[in-house]
Amino acid sequence: MQRDSRISMICVGDELLDGSIRDLNMRTLGSVLVDHGLKLDSSKVIRDGVDLISEALEKAVGIVVVSGGLGPTQDDVTRDGAAAWAGVQLAEDRESLETLRRRFEERNYPFTDNNRRQAFFPVGADILPNPRGSAPGFKLKVAGTTAYFFPGVPSEFQAFCETHLAPELAQGTGVRTRLYFHGLGESQLETRLDGIEALAKELGSRVGYRADYPEIEVKLAADSDEALESAVAFVESKIGLYAIGRDDEDISTRVGRLLMEQGATVTTAESCTAGGIAAKITDISGSSSWFEQGFVTYSNAAKHALIGVSNQTLERYGAVSAQVVTQMAAGARERAGATHALAVSGIAGPGGGTAEKPVGTVHFGLASPEGVYHQLIHFRVRTRERIRAGTVYSALAMLLWRLDGQSEHPNVRGPFAVEDVNTPEGITIETDA
Ligand code: ATP
Ligand code: MG
Repeated sequence: MQRDSRISMICVGDELLDGSIRDLNMRTLGSVLVDHGLKLDSSKVIRDGVDLISEALEKAVGIVVVSGGLGPTQDDVTRDGAAAWAGVQLAEDRESLETLRRRFEERNYPFTDNNRRQAFFPVGADILPNPRGSAPGFKLKVAGTTAYFFPGVPSEFQAFCETHLAPELAQGTGVRTRLYFHGLGESQLETRLDGIEALAKELGSRVGYRADYPEIEVKLAADSDEALESAVAFVESKIGLYAIGRDDEDISTRVGRLLMEQGATVTTAESCTAGGIAAKITDISGSSSWFEQGFVTYSNAAKHALIGVSNQTLERYGAVSAQVVTQMAAGARERAGATHALAVSGIAGPGGGTAEKPVGTVHFGLASPEGVYHQLIHFRVRTRERIRAGTVYSALAMLLWRLDGQSEHPNVRGPFAVEDVNTPEGITIETDA
């Protein structure tokens, strides 16, 4: 396909406009395109109507993907709209008819004249078999426009995108990679990656980003490995500090690999995530090699009893403080006999915030052989669920930062000596409110 084609989508279905269901297919298509360094230019939603469909197709240029209205009932008229657009008749395809008939027989369903409609296609269309076994889709070219017609059922639509669209998008694109980052807002990301579009153009590569909280995905595609790696090097030089994974290696896998390579282990002391970090670390099989135990210390009493946080420190600074979280990390590391300990204490909301410590305030501690690090994050997302998900990611990202052998970070302080951390006054840091 032409790399500079316009790409649009038409979602067909009365139910999408009557408020009964929400369109899920645009998201699927958008993400398949981004995977190939391409972008959806526009999408429109229309009713099941022959004229509406043919008019919408009339206006499309380049590539257009049509979702829905291929069903057997009289209200599904996408095939009629497509034929009207192309100025051709519908004709029955024998092979599709036989396949459909056989499917119905196998399931003991009666095969009606309505069902037979699904074996009719505009003359000249390429019939696209359904990867999930039911009714086919089709592809039709009219003048400079190529239209793909896929069923609306979301799982089928996705299967069609992957089987019939992605391979055509991939033609001539060579190599691709996905990089994952965490801890940057989308606008910060854009500012830092300023210049990437120009570089991509020069290298003949393509770039796309997608923020899927709490992760940001940067997708790169190029015609050669060299061009791809130059683009990767550019991205890493700008935001490498926030890197958490690449391609199939997600955050938990990368944490596990690095711990394994370093012969190290990790433990957790969790307040506001109550086990979420431990769950994430153990997402992958084999994690018992680097994770033996974790502490869920939700109450102050548990923080004291299980991991030795000083009652005086708790009283003086409150549980959500740099002093307490660093003691949590140091205590957990010692009690579990682990190489590293991650600790978090924060206010996940919706209640419990104060002017000094608003909802979204989270303190992080990381105890490692050289001492204890601290980080304070004010999450701007507002739901409890998102604050907790962000906290889990940020904790693992902090560990990755250390495992990667980095020493500078704009938000991380330390290492502080364990003796200083463990005094009742705890550590003093300027970020503390
Ligand atoms: P089938 O051949 O399986 O009947 P179809 O192409 O006819 O598929 P529709 O009849 O339009 O598709 O829709 C089938 C089902 O998929 C319906 O339940 C519909 O609500 C749902 N659906 C259609 N389009 C979308 C969409 N864009 N997002 C989410 N669901 C959709
Ligand atoms: Mg429909």
